[in-house]
This record gives sequence, structure tokens and C-alpha cells, in this order.
Amino acid sequence: MELQNLTIKEARALLDEKKVTAVELAAAYVERAKKKNGELNAYLEIFDDVNEQAQRADKIIADGGGSMLTGIPLAIKDNILIKGHIASGASKILENYVASYDAHVIEQLKNVGAVFLGRTNMDEFAMGSSTENSAFGPSKNPHDVTRIPGGSSGGSAAAVAGDLAIAGLGTDTGGSVRQPAALCGIVGFKPTYGAVSRYGAMALGSSLDQISPFTKTVEDAEFLFTTIRGIDSRDATALPDTYFSTTTSPKRIGVPKKFLTQGIDEDVLEVFNESLELMKKEGYEVVDIELPNMKYALAAYYIVMPAEASTNLARYDGVRYGVKEEGENLTDDYMQTRGKGFGAESRRRILIGAFVLSSGYADAYYRKATAVRELIRNDFREAFKDVDIIATPTSPTPAFKIGEKANDPLAMYTADIFTVPVNMAGVPAISVPMGTVKREDSALPIGMQFIAPHGADSSLFPIGKDFERIVV
Ligand code: GLN
Repeated sequence: MELQNLTIKEARALLDEKKVTAVELAAAYVERAKKKNGELNAYLEIFDDVNEQAQRADKIIADGGGSMLTGIPLAIKDNILIKGHIASGASKILENYVASYDAHVIEQLKNVGAVFLGRTNMDEFAMGSSTENSAFGPSKNPHDVTRIPGGSSGGSAAAVAGDLAIAGLGTDTGGSVRQPAALCGIVGFKPTYGAVSRYGAMALGSSLDQISPFTKTVEDAEFLFTTIRGIDSRDATALPDTYFSTTTSPKRIGVPKKFLTQGIDEDVLEVFNESLELMKKEGYEVVDIELPNMKYALAAYYIVMPAEASTNLARYDGVRYGVKEEGENLTDDYMQTRGKGFGAESRRRILIGAFVLSSGYADAYYRKATAVRELIRNDFREAFKDVDIIATPTSPTPAFKIGEKANDPLAMYTADIFTVPVNMAGVPAISVPMGTVKREDSALPIGMQFIAPHGADSSLFPIGKDFERIVV
């Protein structure tokens, strides 16, 4: 039996029908992960307690309990804490840090007996769009190993796309789940800000971060989301279930045509337009909409996000966590530790963040960016008075070559032009595979992004499933 390219739903059926045990399933995935990881560098570590975890899952199943995720092998981004395991954020500064507690999402998944195969590679502290900012080397795209898998959650995306896990978790602050999902040809879903507790996820941009699922199908994303979501007293921004609207079947799609002209590859736009035509044939209405302030989203994000990151990263000082370098005095300890422990992109963002928050500049930068953010939120609110869903390509290009943009931060930042506005507004969005475009000899996946109003997460699933059916 082929056990290595299953969806959650398919694996669930095999487990429930007793055609396979959780132990066998986990072993098949560990075997494949071990075989393929040398090439893909998707995992920073494949755990040695996978078998015990799977045994627990089998016990839950034997006792007649469990849920959709029981016994399902998952890949977890290295910035989500699993008690007793290293969580490094792919940074030298936390290389040997062992988590002393479980993240909320991990608790939820442990409760139902999900199986964690390992921790996955990422851009250091989730800053980047390619995983090249990892302190442990880039991950590779399973569709073409000379190319990046996207980022920052590129390791989880590569693991799921390469069948080194059935599904996975990442974090999405500006696109870090949707963009790698698109570039690896899988589904990435960023819930409404507050839908999933951030407790136990390493904070990057606290007003933007959301833990988010990677799956092979939209239906699987729904299963995983249902398991991890929910109120949690340890994250004051977590929203109660009652906040969320009930599922509707969106029919009226808004496309911000004017916004889709900058820096997007022609063939990506073509496939996007063709996909919308197919949707129209299926009865969807597609209308042009204005999101007038969207063009400022990237600039504002790269002020708000570094401001929050510089504050959040202040805790890595060698005293409380991770690696410590000895200097001549306490200040020198900090400087040595942070100087050696952080990579270039982390340092760049700390500098930018400290600058935009500094006295004399905070009004010109940070406060202005916050004001622009409000305008962006309002653009979405206005647009959703007229349409049910907004559609854009997830990323303006397919996967680029490893090294192609590594020394050009601005080029790298534009990878998130269509995903960042979503985080700025806190609304939910899903990336669903939209076919491929050709580069050299490779057919490279791209993604369709559907964006829903705040709290209307569940309405993304019907349209996402429909889109999967329509585009194949
Ligand atoms: N690529 C974006 C950045 O570098 C998004 C990162 C993320 O979502 N974690 O900030």
C-alpha cells in the first residue's frame, strides 16, 4: 500500500478502517523524510520520539476516541514550541534552546493524538520569503531543487509538497504560509488574526502573526484549522468562537485590477485571469474593485513589522535563552551574543525597527505606518460591502532560483506584495493551487489567493474547494 502521498482525509479513512496503524503510517513518513531530507533540507530535525507518539495515537483509536487528526503525521515550523524539543527559530542564537512548554496549538494537537514528525526549516525568526535566511541552509523546492520553496515557512511547505508529511504548521506574518504554499503547489490558509492562539509561537510581529496550516487540499486545511483554533486565556488577542460568522457560499468576487499591475510576471497574471474566466463559467460573478491604499501596504508593513520585531527580538540577549557569548561586561555580553547569534536579515530589521520607533522619528515612520494600516483596513471593509470575496494571485512570481534575490532585500520584500495587505488588515485568506507556469525546464506552481472579511474564515472553504475542482 502506498502510504506516502496521502491527504488527512485519506489517511483518516485508512486508520479508521484499520488498514494501517498510526505506528505504521508514522514509520512510512519517517522513512521517506529521512530519505528525502538530504535533498530538500525541509526538516532541521526529525524527532526520535515519533514511534511513541504514534503508539499513543493507536491507543486513542483502539479506545474508540480521537478525531480527524488522530495519528496524522505533521511537520511543525521551528518557531512553534513543543515541550522537550529544540525550538531554534532557525537561528544560531537559539540553536540549543529546548522548549519548556507546549504552544497552544501543540496542546490541541496532542490532545487528539496528532504525530509530530519533526521541526522544519524557516527563515531566521520568520523574516524572509525564501528560507535562505535560515542559519542552517536553505530548503529546496520539491518541484525544482535549484529553486527556493518560498518562506519564511519554506521547510513545512517543502515537507508537505514533497510528501515528507501529510500536513504541517507554519506562521504567517506577511505571507509566510500562503506564499510558500503557492510556490510549492499546496494549500496555505491564514486565519483571521486572533482565530488561533499565538501562545507558544515565537513572536515576530505580534499584531500580524498567525499560526497557519499547510495541507494538500482545502478540506484538509479546514480539518487542521478546526483542531487548532479557539479561545485561549494566554493570548489576549484570541477571539471567541461566537465572533466568527457562519459559513456562506461566496458568489461575488472582487478583483483589485489596478493593484495587479505592478511587478507581476505576465504569465502569472494570464493564468490568474484564465482561472477567473473558469470561475465565471461556473456561475461566479467577477467585478473590478478599488483598494486605493493597497499600494502603500508593503511600505507600511516594512515599518510596522520591523518595529514589532525589534521589540520582540530584544529578549534574545544570552541571559534568558539560548547561546551566550562572554564579553568584558554585561553590555559587552549582549553585544557579543547578539552580534554573533543573529543573521544579517534579523540585524537589518532590528536596526530599521529601532530607528522607526526612536524618539524624533516615531511620528514620521511608525505612527504614520499605523495610520496607513487603518486606511488599508478600511479599504477592505468598504470593498466587502459590495463583494463576498477578494481574489489576487498569491505571489507575483513562481519560485525563484536559490541565490537570485538573496542579496537584494527590496526584491525579496516584493514577493509579499499581495499577501502583506491581508495581515495588515487582520482578515483571513487562503492560497489554493492555480496551475503552473514554465521557467527553464520546470513547470512551477502558482497560487490563487482568496481573501474573506474579518471572521468569515469558514466561507473561504466552499469557494476554495470549488476552485480546486474547477482548475484541475
Ligand atoms: N516575507 C515576509 C517578511 O519577511 C513575511 C514573513 C512572515 O510572514 N513571517 O517579513
